[in-house]
Amino acid sequence: MGEFELIRQFFTRPQAEQPEAGVVLGIGDDCALLTIEAGKQLAISVDTAVSGVHFPAEAPAELIAQRTLCSSLSDLAAMGAEPKWFTLALTLPEVDEQWLRDFSRGLFAIAQKYQCHLVGGDTTRGPLAISLQVMGEVVASQTLRRDGAAPGDFVLVTHCLGDGAAGLAVIENRLSLSDAHNQYLHDRFYIPTPRFAEARLIREIASAALDISDGLIADLGHICQASDVGAVIDVDTLPLSEALRTLLDADQARAWALSGGDDYELCFTVAPAHLPQVAMLIAEGKLQATIIGNIVAGSGVHLEQDEQPYQFSATGYQHFSS
Ligand code: ADP
Ligand code: MG
Repeated sequence: MGEFELIRQFFTRPQAEQPEAGVVLGIGDDCALLTIEAGKQLAISVDTAVSGVHFPAEAPAELIAQRTLCSSLSDLAAMGAEPKWFTLALTLPEVDEQWLRDFSRGLFAIAQKYQCHLVGGDTTRGPLAISLQVMGEVVASQTLRRDGAAPGDFVLVTHCLGDGAAGLAVIENRLSLSDAHNQYLHDRFYIPTPRFAEARLIREIASAALDISDGLIADLGHICQASDVGAVIDVDTLPLSEALRTLLDADQARAWALSGGDDYELCFTVAPAHLPQVAMLIAEGKLQATIIGNIVAGSGVHLEQDEQPYQFSATGYQHFSS
C-alpha cells in the first residue's frame, strides 16, 4: 500500500468538507482551508522531515532548518496564502548546543525573510525529525486549489525543474559539474524558494495549482485526479536550469525534471481566456514560467515528444511504495 492509498483508506472521510463547521477544504490539497472570518481563510499544513529520508543525516543543521521551513512554506504559496505563523515539533537524539545554535540561526533567517512567526511547538527525544506546521491567510476568492483544472487549460511551471534532484545528487557525490553549478544545485536542494511572489501574480488567474514536491508527473497527477481530467506534457518544453543544460546525459536531466522531486516550483493551469494575461506577465519579466502542456479530457499524465508518446517509467517519490 502506497502513501496516498493509506491516506485515502484510513484518514479520508466522505463529506470531509463541512462549510458549516468552517472546513472549506479538507484532506487532499497542499493545505486545508478553514474559514476564520467572512471572505478570509486560514491555510494550514504540517510536514515532517526525517533525518536520512528527507535530508542526509550528516547535513549541516543550519541547512536542515532552512530546507524544512522553505519546503513547508511552499505549501502555503501553493494555496495562494500569505505566511503568518508556524509551530515546530523537534525530535532530537541529544542536546548538542552547537547544532541547536546553527539550526536556530537557519530557522529564523527564513522565518524573518518570509515574515512567518514561530508561535509554539514541542520538543522530544528520539531519532532526529522535524515537524513544521505552517499557517497562512488567504482571501477566499484567491485560493489556488488542485481541483479547478478543465480540458483546454494550459499547464505551466515556474522557474526550472530537476534542480532539487540534481542538487541531492551533487550533495551525495553522484554528480559533479563546475563549482558554480555545483553550488547552485546544492542551494536549490537546501534552500528551495517558496514561490509566494509567483503565487501572488497567478492566484486570480490560475484554474488550479500545487507545488512540486514529489516530481512533476506525480504532482500534476494530483491536479488531474482532483480535477477529473488528464494532462499531456511535451517533454521538450520542460524548463531546465543552465546547470542542468550542461549535463551530457540529457535523458538524466529530463528524468530529474519529470520525477526527481524536491523542486518546490509551482505547477499551475490557466484557461485559454486568461492565457494572454499570463503571457504578458512572462513577457514583462514579472513571472518566470513556462507552458509545458495542456489539460485534456480523460485521466493521468501523458508525455509526448514531437507529438509522439514518450516512454518513461519512473513516477515520483512515495513513502511506503515498494
Ligand atoms: P504535500 O506534499 O503538499 O505536503 P502530501 O502529499 O503530504 O501533501 O499529502 C497529501 C494530502 O493528504 C494533504 O492534503 C495532507 O494534508 C493529507 N494527509 C497526509 N497524511 C495524512 C494523515 N495521516 N491524516 C490526514 N491527512 C493526511
Ligand atoms: Mg504541496
